[in-house]
This record gives sequence, structure tokens and C-alpha cells, in this order.
Amino acid sequence: EMVIRDWSSDVCSSDLPSSDTTLARIVRMVGEAQSKRAPTEQWVERFARIYTPVVMALSLAVFLVPPLLLGGDWAAWFYQALVLLVIACPCALVISTPVSIVAGLTGAARRGVLIKGGVHLETPARLTAIAMDKTGTLTLGRPKVIEIIPIGTRSESELLSFAAAVEARSEHPIARAILAIAAERGIDVVPAKDVTAVPGLGVVGKINDRHVWVGSAIYLEQRLGGGDSEKLTTALKRIAGAGLTGIAVWESMTVIGLIAVGDAVRPEARLIVAQLHALGIAQVVMLTGDARAPAEAIAHETGVDEVYAELLPEQKVEAIERLVAQHGLVAMVGDGVNDAPAMARASLGIAMGAIGSDAAIETADIALMQDDLSQLPWLIRHSRATLTVIRQNIGFSLAVKLVFGGLTLLGMASLWGAIAADVGASLLVVLNGLRLIDRDQRAR
Ligand code: ADP
Ligand code: MG
Repeated sequence: EMVIRDWSSDVCSSDLPSSDTTLARIVRMVGEAQSKRAPTEQWVERFARIYTPVVMALSLAVFLVPPLLLGGDWAAWFYQALVLLVIACPCALVISTPVSIVAGLTGAARRGVLIKGGVHLETPARLTAIAMDKTGTLTLGRPKVIEIIPIGTRSESELLSFAAAVEARSEHPIARAILAIAAERGIDVVPAKDVTAVPGLGVVGKINDRHVWVGSAIYLEQRLGGGDSEKLTTALKRIAGAGLTGIAVWESMTVIGLIAVGDAVRPEARLIVAQLHALGIAQVVMLTGDARAPAEAIAHETGVDEVYAELLPEQKVEAIERLVAQHGLVAMVGDGVNDAPAMARASLGIAMGAIGSDAAIETADIALMQDDLSQLPWLIRHSRATLTVIRQNIGFSLAVKLVFGGLTLLGMASLWGAIAADVGASLLVVLNGLRLIDRDQRAR
């Protein structure tokens, strides 16, 4: 059984070592990002490795061949060889890509999109499918308790105080909802002992030396088997019918009650899904650990193409693997610890940066620091714009070289012209790359 304690993320508490603060982690991630170079950048380097010796050989030939074989003037051809060397210097070509990538990363950061490396700047342009977690990603991740249904002998406030005690230190959105209503009703919460979170299922802790569980209907089914009462089954059905999520609370073998929670869909979600389709993303998929009924209600509301519900974290990974096999390049957008493995498996992991858990943000290749889903279509357009700028830069620097190389071979180029062209091309390529910093910043 996979057990992860998920209450370690209080980034503000002063007793954290400085190496563990969010800022320190972001600084470290950015450092690592710079060492992960984009494919085009690597291509340019491989190109330069072949190109440089070829140019050296060619200019040597220009210097030696005409005087030796054709009776040319040594001084004149030495000059032409120098011109060729200068003009062939791949300055513009070599800086064209890194400049564009750094500018692209900076432009994204200015919009609150933290991209951890040039590699991940090129992927969004080529995505064919996007998988999104439901809670906290497609929804606001601020579920509210809608109804409290005691089952058995315990009262409503006992039910709530037990649930709150177990959830006291959990960072799961459902835990926050339960704690909020407990506080609202003035219930004194004494945190449970030995609390363990089971990602995708629930939490267990000890109250007065007895284990108390809080979790999904599936978790209840797993732990207690088919021992559920008539009253429990009807209540669960009614909650599911309303598109809500039923959270069960039970101690050893007895169910204490149900807590129905509902989470509002992000207002922009439907528009974003439509925009992703318009950008050529063939399949937008929702992955969730939640029950099928609330999952389908939200799928309908947002217009996603496909729903996978009742998934454990490892099943989210399997779903991603299936999508990768079907579609090639697949992104996973998530916020929870339970999404981290799937994000790692996807071609591109994207985390909600503000609401997201530390595990998700650390695993992600890209973090949306303002939890703003509208950054997703923007990111795809930005990535495509970056690739366009890189292609323009590579094309332009190669064209300048070709033209001047030709002129040199015809003996028509001057050294000063060659130097001017080289510096000019480098400057133009840099300026073209820098456009990415300001690209589309006003949209917000
Ligand atoms: P999602 O995939 O929608 O982000 P999770 O995988 O985090 O959801 O959780 C799946 C389900 O497991 C939840 O809908 C809930 O029923 C249950 N669950 C997970 N963690 C908790 C918790 N801390 N308290 C109560 N229920 C939980
Ligand atoms: Mg989630």
C-alpha cells in the first residue's frame, strides 16, 4: 500500500531550513532548467561541430587552390580566404537559438508561467492531447461541504469533529472544506494521532486510540467490503445523483456518516477547453480519483472529450501511458500529490503553482504560478511563436552566410562587408529573439 504523508508543506513556518523554502526550491529548479537544453539548441551545436572544420578546409582551399593551380595572385586569394573565414563564422547561427529560448522563457515567466528548461518550451507547440485532473485543475479546488449525513448512533457534530480531527493536517482540498465547516460551527478540533494520507483514497488517523477513516466510497468499499447498510447506499446514490462527492467517515467496522462536498468548475474552464480544441489539441481528457457521477457532471459542463474516473494515482499513470501510445505527445495538468506520478510520465507535466502541492510543483516541467488555466492556450501559442522565431533566426543566419559565401567565392566580397554582415546578422537575430519577452503580455 502506497502511503505518503501529505502535511509537510507549510512553506511559511519559520522552523523550515532555508533550503526547503518555496523560493529556494524555485531558485534550484531554475538552475536545473538552464542545464536542460532544447533540442534545437543541441541541433545547432551538432551542426557547428561539422560546419566549423568544413569552413576551415574551404577557406584553406580558397587560399591555396587558385594561386597554385590557376596562377592566381597569392595576396588577393589570401584576402578572399580571410573574408570567407569571417563571413562563415557561425556567430549569428550559434546565438540565434539560445537567445530565442532565454527570451521565450523570460516572456513566459513574466506571465507567471515558470518553464523549467528550454526542452519544455518546445514541447507545448507539438502537443496532441492534454489530460487534466478534475479537483483543483478544472474545478476551483475549493470544495464546500453541502450536507452532513450521520449514519448510526453518532451525532452530526460528533461526525464532523471526528472527520476534522483526521483531516486537521491534510492539505487536500476536501480536508480544507471539512475544516472550514467545523470552524464555522465552532467545533474544537483536536488533531488525530498517527495520521496517514492514502493518495486518491482518503486519510486515516487515531482518535482516543481508535482508528478513524475519512475517504471515498471506493476506499470504504475496499476496507469494509460489502457490509454497507441500506441507509448508506441510498444516501450515496442521492449524493452522486446531485453531482456531489460523498466522503465517508468510519471507525473500525462502523460507518459514522457521510459528508457531501461540491466543487465549482472554474468559470473559464469551458472556454479554455474550446480554445485548446481550436489550437489543434485532438483530445482533452479528464482524469480524476473522484466518483464517476460528479466527474461526468463536470466533464459535461467543461466540454472535455473523455473522462477517466475513480483512478488511483498509479491508474492515472496507466491512463497517461495509454494516451501517449495513442496520441504521442501528451501533457498532464494537475495539482495534487496524486497527480505527480502521472505528470512525471507525461511528455509534459504542468502544475497549478499556487494551489498545487509541493510534489506536483517539483515534478512538473511547467508551473502556472497563478493557477490560471487560460495560460494553457497561451503557452501553446507562445511555444509555437518561439519555434517560429528560432526557425526565422536559423534561416536568416544561414541565408546571410550563403549569400556572402557565394560572393566570396566569386571574389566579389570585401573584408569590411563581411564583418558588417556578420555583426549585423548577429544583432538582427538577437533583436528578433528578444521580441519573445514582450510577446502578448497585455492580454492579462
Ligand atoms: P482528484 O483526482 O480529483 O484530484 P484525489 O485523487 O485527490 O482527487 O482524490 C480522489 C478521491 O479520494 C476524492 O474524491 C475523495 O473521495 C478521496 N480523498 C482523497 N484524499 C482525501 C482526503 N484527504 N479526505 C477525504 N477524502 C479524500
Ligand atoms: Mg487534484
